[in-house]
Amino acid sequence: MIIKPKVRGFLCVTAHPVGCAAHVQEWIDHVKAKGPINPGPRKVLVIGSSTGYGLASRITAAFGSGAATLGVFFERPSEEGRPATPGWYNTIAFTRAARAAGLYAKNLNGDAFSDDIKRQALELIRTDLGQVDLVVYSLASPRRTHPRTGVVHKSCLKPVGAPYTNKTVDTDKGIVSEVTIDPANETDIADTVAVMGGEDWEFWIAALREAHLLAPGAQSVAYSYIGPEVTWAVYKNGTIGLAKNDLERAARNIDAQLRAHGGGQAFISVNKALVTQASSAIPVVPLYISILYKLMKARGTHEGCIEQMQRLFATQMYNGHKPKFDEAGRVRVDDLEMIPEVQAAVRAIWPEVTTANLAELTDIDGYRTEFMKLFGFGLAGVDYEAEVEPHVPMP
Ligand code: NAD
Repeated sequence: MIIKPKVRGFLCVTAHPVGCAAHVQEWIDHVKAKGPINPGPRKVLVIGSSTGYGLASRITAAFGSGAATLGVFFERPSEEGRPATPGWYNTIAFTRAARAAGLYAKNLNGDAFSDDIKRQALELIRTDLGQVDLVVYSLASPRRTHPRTGVVHKSCLKPVGAPYTNKTVDTDKGIVSEVTIDPANETDIADTVAVMGGEDWEFWIAALREAHLLAPGAQSVAYSYIGPEVTWAVYKNGTIGLAKNDLERAARNIDAQLRAHGGGQAFISVNKALVTQASSAIPVVPLYISILYKLMKARGTHEGCIEQMQRLFATQMYNGHKPKFDEAGRVRVDDLEMIPEVQAAVRAIWPEVTTANLAELTDIDGYRTEFMKLFGFGLAGVDYEAEVEPHVPMP
């Protein structure tokens, strides 16, 4: 079939297998061009490995350090007349490239929150890898079925305490408008913490530890976001921010366990705001990202997921480096986003942006280009008029 983008709000419901493979190759090429990360991770479990920061972490470990990787993700294969989700195609492209380079790469497609997928992952690690020395926890999910209670928790992106009104942009239509979001109730908060907080990360580490599958000195990292004041009501101080506080609590708990296990460590890396499937669903944030991209590109400091993760691994976690923690014990690869001059410029532009001047004051074009690339569209060298086979089995 000929696959064209079909954008519905903040989602594209189609994905291009050849384009996704080209996107993955761009990321691999970036990591290779940056040179080896040595010493680096050897055997890595990436939970949430098919898109965004998790995929970038996996590519960095594999192509920066020659690591064996086991990826866990939740993606939909192609169905009759309907392409698969991008993470499906990304993982196939990654797996083929890794194996062609002589690297171990295996995948588990299923619900990472479930005991069953954990059991399957443990079994694969036991038989194939022996132990892992790095666990990357990079899930972004709208829901979690709790493995002990069976309760389905749904996460939400709401302010806490009071309604919140601010500007937002419909990135597809290019319309800037005001959005008002009603505040979360106690159930919304508890549900979001249950989905995006740290309990499942703790379950993974406990399962690995009890099965003796963590190498002495093993590390674990999970990702968070803080951002500027203009997004705090809906992010840092909202339901998702409370879940991230819980992720930090879990990091301290896991860190204590890993320190006692051969001097390992666990921490949170605070990453830059970027266009991913997860971030495009957050109100207000895409407008902020469009302004930020414009400013950071002008300064020559713009980074995508792969640049961020390559920098995290090469300058904070490995390559003879140790993490430089902030006052709360987090690594900050959002440093270039948060520098005062950039944030002052965001604050100056924010009140001025309208539908009429959106293209001039922000990098909405860059946002859209990045968004389409997430689904494998707009990549150089890909013939989008050509027939392509949407059904690609996982190797
Ligand atoms: P993403 O949507 O690109 O990736 C999410 C991953 O989780 C995918 O691999 C998906 O398959 C997997 N997943 C979702 N539900 C699953 C389930 N039930 N079982 C197994 N796998 C599942 O998201 P992202 O933006 O890369 O986010 C990853 C982490 O980085 C999140 O913790 C997010 O908060 C954080 N982060 C994101 C940004 C940003 O701007 N995008 C910034 C800082 C931190």
